[in-house]
Amino acid sequence: MAAVDSVLVIGGGVAGAATAILLADAGVSVDLVEMKPDVTALGSGITLQGNALRVLRELAVLDECLVQGYAADQLVIRAPDPAATVVATLTEHRSGGPDLPASMGMYRPDLARVLMGRAERAGVKTRFSTTVQDLEQDPSGVDVRFTDGSTGRYDLVVGADGLRSWTRRLLDVPLETRSVGMGIWRVFAPRPAEVVSSEAVYGGRCYIAGYTPTSESSLYAFLVEDAQDRTTITDEEKVAVVRDLAGSYGGPWREILEAITDPAAINYTWFEEHLLDAPWHRGRVVLVGDAAHTCPPTLAQGAAQALEDAAVLVELLLSADVLDDDLLSAFTARRLPRVREVVEASVQLARWQLAHEQGDVPALMGRIAQLTSTRA
Ligand SMILES: Cc1cc2nc3c(=O)[nH]c(=O)nc-3n(C[C@H](O)[C@H](O)[C@H](O)COP(=O)(O)OP(=O)(O)OC[C@H]3O[C@@H](n4cnc5c(N)ncnc54)[C@H](O)[C@@H]3O)c2cc1C
Repeated sequence: MAAVDSVLVIGGGVAGAATAILLADAGVSVDLVEMKPDVTALGSGITLQGNALRVLRELAVLDECLVQGYAADQLVIRAPDPAATVVATLTEHRSGGPDLPASMGMYRPDLARVLMGRAERAGVKTRFSTTVQDLEQDPSGVDVRFTDGSTGRYDLVVGADGLRSWTRRLLDVPLETRSVGMGIWRVFAPRPAEVVSSEAVYGGRCYIAGYTPTSESSLYAFLVEDAQDRTTITDEEKVAVVRDLAGSYGGPWREILEAITDPAAINYTWFEEHLLDAPWHRGRVVLVGDAAHTCPPTLAQGAAQALEDAAVLVELLLSADVLDDDLLSAFTARRLPRVREVVEASVQLARWQLAHEQGDVPALMGRIAQLTSTRA
């Protein structure tokens, strides 16, 4: 028995796809609506930490992800000098357990394809280019009107529609998303043979200039600067700015620089943060992933926390017979303290960098490694 028979998931990102897969596997009827016309997410890379890999294993997609992505256990730190001198090679903590790599880089569209392919095989009924126009709930269900004119009634609606969540707005849940003060350029490029794990340079023209392999042949590189209004930048300027910043770094950056020519492979965005206080639901509608919490990627934990939300929510739904306020309150109660710690630590790291302050980074990293090593 599960607490729900029918669920609507709004949003096909990691949180939505994972929720849908786990529910459908358990025999729940799941509809998923995704606003975008297909699964192709932002053409950049993502780092999935051990605790994210643990959930991917639960979703039975880990092997496929490991084939397509690039797993590693080390982080190389280089100096911002012309030779990009290696100052440390750190062995990263395996937060997913000793049998999982510490982290894995992956091309975001590949991850999206793997997850949505798995959702389809699990029986999730997905509709693209579709969203929810409005919803109305009563004590026994939620009536939904979709933008394609259709309607549906569900036991539960899961808002997994990202940091500017429309579901959150439909619920009238106020939440202020704040800029952290940093902006990031991300570039998708070929992997130089010498790059076999994530590498980072702290300092120089950027707060961080780093890269992470996403497959045998590719990596994503990133340059973190003060947040700037880049909304009107032209394609030519985009390439020039990134080449200028990347060109100020040595080592593998020299080879990566050669490949920075295509504006379509470059993305700019700000670091933002928000954290919704309890509860993360209103009646029979619950928010998961970035819709409820978002953090700067200084610990690369956003998607990991979104995946954990999905796993915990479904575990609670499958272990109860009725869906009530207590069940959804228990979901927030289990997730909020852990997510709060991750969001606050991620923001703290960014603040130390913005203030050019040393901070006790090892202690903070140790605390987060400890936390994420325990099951969500
Ligand atoms: C620069 C940057 C780098 C990052 N790097 C990492 C990293 O390395 N590792 C990591 O773990 N995390 C990282 N993150 C965070 C991570 O990307 C997010 O935390 C994660 O994607 C959240 O997943 P989600 O499913 O909640 O939301 P999203 O991934 O945003 O997915 C939401 C989905 O909902 C869809 N949608 C939106 N509105 C609607 C609507 N009204 N109706 C239907 N569908 C809708 C969207 O199209 C999207 O497909 C990074 C974030 C940023 C900004």
